[in-house]
Amino acid sequence: MAQSVVQPTVTPAAVPVKLPIRAIVPWAAFFGILMLVLLYFVGAEQGATSLVSGENVHEWVHDARHLLGFPCH
Ligand SMILES: [Zn+2]
Repeated sequence: MAQSVVQPTVTPAAVPVKLPIRAIVPWAAFFGILMLVLLYFVGAEQGATSLVSGENVHEWVHDARHLLGFPCH
């Protein structure tokens, strides 16, 4: 009669990963500013607050304006 011997496997305990906050903060600030610029062009680049003359920027982001609920026309 054959007997099998099962050795208990030892799994290492989960080690929490340390997030390098000092490495993340500059990227978070960069993407935050980028998102604010994008939000400006989508939401406020029209009429009196327009930085670029003409309607080109407004036409490019027109659908995004409606999607985000900015008043348009
Ligand atoms: Zn519109």
